[in-house]
Amino acid sequence: MPDSLLCLRFFILPHTAPHMDTRKIRLIMELRHQGIRDTKVLSAIETVPRELFVPDHHENQAYENRALSIGAGQTISQPQIVAVMTQALQLNDRHKVLEVGTGSGYQAAILASLCRRLYTIERHKSLLAEAEKRFETLGVRNITAIVGDGMKGWWEQAPFERIIVTAAAQYKVPSSLMEQLAPNGLLVIPIERSTGDQVLRLYRKESEDTYAMKDLMPVRFVPLLPEVAQ
Ligand code: SAM
Repeated sequence: MPDSLLCLRFFILPHTAPHMDTRKIRLIMELRHQGIRDTKVLSAIETVPRELFVPDHHENQAYENRALSIGAGQTISQPQIVAVMTQALQLNDRHKVLEVGTGSGYQAAILASLCRRLYTIERHKSLLAEAEKRFETLGVRNITAIVGDGMKGWWEQAPFERIIVTAAAQYKVPSSLMEQLAPNGLLVIPIERSTGDQVLRLYRKESEDTYAMKDLMPVRFVPLLPEVAQ
């Protein structure tokens, strides 16, 4: 879609305060500039109100392209990273998707607008409770969320056509997640390497034990940790 049309759509269909719309337009332009071409992804970012997913004192920064703290030592990811991960998954409305790391619920709401059903797991009970309230407020009905250790996946609901992990795994993908990925499925995950840096990695399951792999970009995520947080 040409930039001018995208702008026009924002101005014709305002659904947030005017100053928010201006910031949102700027953010979408920035994402396009950074290589996000999937119009379904851009439109999901336009539609899901990020200001609802950040603490009140960060509301002013909701449409800045940066991660923000959400409590419990965790963060809502930077919009660019949300967009890159979502675009990499090539979602459609037949996909059943697993997200590990619900956090604020923002990435979950974006995914849910592009897939059939989203299953999401968070190890912090308080964060999950807040996220579920937001899904309720927005009337999102195709998300099932639980408190748990997402490194184990969700065997009862597997296989998943798509899996997204929003915290950094040390060195490799947890084996349960690979096992729960459907044939030809895609999995996107930040991986911390032995050098200490992190890379966003996309896997495609080619057969029961073979995967194609592609590094997308350097990233900095909070760590993927075992067990439910106490
Ligand atoms: N997707 C989130 C959002 O849109 O706000 C951002 C997630 S934040 C960067 C990473 C989240 O992963 C944190 O909330 C953290 O508690 C969670 N997490 C870390 N390890 C986990 C695990 N083993 N199972 C489930 N959640 C986990």
